[in-house]
Amino acid sequence: MRDQGLENHSTVKKIMKEALITETHVAYSSFQEALNCVSMIFPSLACLWFILYHPSTLTRHSWILILGTFLHLPFSMTYHGLCAVGNDSEFWKRLDLSLIHVVSCIYAYALSNSPLYFAANVVVNIRHICTIWAKTGRHKAERSSNIMQAVALYLLPILFSGDVSNFSGAVLTFVLGGFLFQINFLGGYGHSLFHAIFIGFQYYLISATQKVGVGKGPNCF
Ligand SMILES: [Zn+2]
Repeated sequence: MRDQGLENHSTVKKIMKEALITETHVAYSSFQEALNCVSMIFPSLACLWFILYHPSTLTRHSWILILGTFLHLPFSMTYHGLCAVGNDSEFWKRLDLSLIHVVSCIYAYALSNSPLYFAANVVVNIRHICTIWAKTGRHKAERSSNIMQAVALYLLPILFSGDVSNFSGAVLTFVLGGFLFQINFLGGYGHSLFHAIFIGFQYYLISATQKVGVGKGPNCF
């Protein structure tokens, strides 16, 4: 009887684990993963465009945001690159997701000019990073909603500063990218398009940092 119970318990655990894998794993071909890897360069291209053609417009806050973007790049490219060669590494996936939250804190400071707001974002994002590394694993929906929360937190200071045009541009590009990602446009190419559209998102973020400045005080508390 006890053996039967244990057997049932392990079967339930196995089914739950499989359901979790099914929900969190989207199958891409090697070519699509290679595209996912290469397309991660697009947000950094927006940074390079400012660095090469408009360096004098970059403020200290712009540079902080740009360095944050460059920081995420090797982690994301490594994760997608490993997937392209057939190694769907859970470790690198979690590291890539964690870096999104680390970079969100950096963006929150660059866009708010507020150490207090930065600290609040660190607390929120550390909690999200802990859920990514929790042994039980997490559902894709929870990870996505945590990322959206982090993005909303670093975008809000742009609105608080009254920079409606850059805020609207950032929100629209993010929503468009998120939509393409969710519907996985053209049989799995939505992820690459999501990365590529971030060239526009990045443009609006850097433009927003140009209005955040030393002497102007924080955008929010
Ligand atoms: Zn990706």
